[in-house]
Amino acid sequence: MFFFAPEAVFAKKCISLHFVMTRLKFIGAHVGAEPSVAVAPREAAALGASAFAFNLVDPQRWASPAYTPADVDSFRMACEQLGFSPAQILPHSAFVINLGGPDPRKRAMSRRLLIDELRRCSLLGLAMLNLHPGAHLGKISEDESISLIAENINAALDATEGVAVVLENTAGQGSNLGYTFAQLAGIISFVHDKSRVGVCVDTAHAFAAGYDLSSPQGYQDMWAEFDATLGPSVLRGMHINDSQRALGSRIDRHAPVGEGFIGEEAFRRLIADPRTDGIPLILETPDVDRWRQVIARLAEWHSPHE
Ligand SMILES: [Zn+2]
Ligand SMILES: [Zn+2]
Repeated sequence: MFFFAPEAVFAKKCISLHFVMTRLKFIGAHVGAEPSVAVAPREAAALGASAFAFNLVDPQRWASPAYTPADVDSFRMACEQLGFSPAQILPHSAFVINLGGPDPRKRAMSRRLLIDELRRCSLLGLAMLNLHPGAHLGKISEDESISLIAENINAALDATEGVAVVLENTAGQGSNLGYTFAQLAGIISFVHDKSRVGVCVDTAHAFAAGYDLSSPQGYQDMWAEFDATLGPSVLRGMHINDSQRALGSRIDRHAPVGEGFIGEEAFRRLIADPRTDGIPLILETPDVDRWRQVIARLAEWHSPHE
């Protein structure tokens, strides 16, 4: 009887709460998608991952063959069977895309490819697409480039349905924009449909751009700035990379988690932070053959009831 066993009821509640909270931490890696996208969810499952990223198309090319109906079915079926929902999947768009460059022809090509990738997301049943904001290439001002990026995102969102563009912060290498949260907020301020734009924070990029998340204070300061400029609800994913280069170097070189300048403590803090619940947390580190162990270790750091 319920009245005589309140402890049992309480224990049951704790177990289900623990299950829900554990499930909310989606940890994975950027996996392969060759010869077909259907490989990606299977590779992720083999790593013991609960999230994954992959390339929808050849990231170095302007055009890739359309998916066959068999590719699409096989991807969707694998995700369903292996338990990957759209909230756990953050595909990465092609590197050739530059929405903020000075050349109108290249911008048009970039916009076309972004639209193609957003449509591929819809075909695969996915909800978001990770995008590097763009680079001014030293030929136009940062502000001009930022408004071009927003203009092209608006055009791509107008030409598609549902899928959100998730802007990744950059290390600020070369003339790449999006190395400050204020720049990302600037782009987003011009985007008409705010429900279809978000941000993915890459820890190595943030550190290289000058956000010192290696220390407890620096970590707090980084998120305080994020919340003040962008707002906490804009965060749609994270790339979990340590940095081979020092704070503020503006050089983008990923290191295995705990083996770079950011250090293990910072990643423990990040995984324990409720802010990282329910969004894909993706490794893009060079220790590919250790990803299975790293994912298991990161998942261990998330222990809400201990
Ligand atoms: Zn990226
Ligand atoms: Zn990244």
